[in-house]
Amino acid sequence: MRIPLIAGNWKMNTTVAEAEKLASSLRDILDKIEGIEKVLCPPFISLTTLSEVLQGSSVKLGAQNMYFEARGAYTGEISPLMLKGLVEFVILGHSERRSYFGETDELVNKKVQVALDFGLKPILCVGERLEENEAGKTEQVITRQLKGSLANIEPGIDLVIAYEPIWAIGTGKAADGITAATTIKFIRDTLANLWDSDAAQKVRLLYGGSVTGNNIAEFVSQPEIDGALVGGASLKTNEFSSIVGQSVAIKRQGT
Ligand code: PEP
Repeated sequence: MRIPLIAGNWKMNTTVAEAEKLASSLRDILDKIEGIEKVLCPPFISLTTLSEVLQGSSVKLGAQNMYFEARGAYTGEISPLMLKGLVEFVILGHSERRSYFGETDELVNKKVQVALDFGLKPILCVGERLEENEAGKTEQVITRQLKGSLANIEPGIDLVIAYEPIWAIGTGKAADGITAATTIKFIRDTLANLWDSDAAQKVRLLYGGSVTGNNIAEFVSQPEIDGALVGGASLKTNEFSSIVGQSVAIKRQGT
């Protein structure tokens, strides 16, 4: 049984004071919801404060990115050594990192390897652009991203993969549940080919892209989809709590 997971990617939003306030209000509600992993990914600068806010809470922390070296002359970067002990998860290969900061599958692969070496759990993001989707290239793009990002990674790891079609991120135009589930099944089949079926079954596969309290049911009611990576809606206490609450209720009905 895979434990469902909802992660909130706050992106470049919230000052430290705003992050503290948001995390405190989320903690009070989310601690009452069991049977699902809840992860907040605030900006780096708020991680220390939030680790204090979330002490003793079931709500976990994740980073939004990470460099692949432990220390050195890499101005502006944050290392796995700095994150170890502070966060349990790290988002890697988000499409915004790929498109605005030129991250390649090869770079993401190094980051995945190093995150695992440091005991951090990667939330690896994959997904196709609109023109690739329209050209029927979704599976081709995802295969390339999975093979590239997971090259030389041993099976059996505690990995989360978020399928995030780029055309659905921040646009208000989410994929429909069946289409998302079909691609997510394709991801699991690809992992089974890359590794083996047991290792593929252990990986939690999330959907991401304009998830809200109004459409989360469509995704988590699909057995293939283990949860969601949520951007904009994760900045609103009621919306994010509703996404978490609905997800666990629906997953319980399905077991
Ligand atoms: C994201 O950035 O990972 C994301 C899914 O954003 P949004 O929910 O805002 O589309």
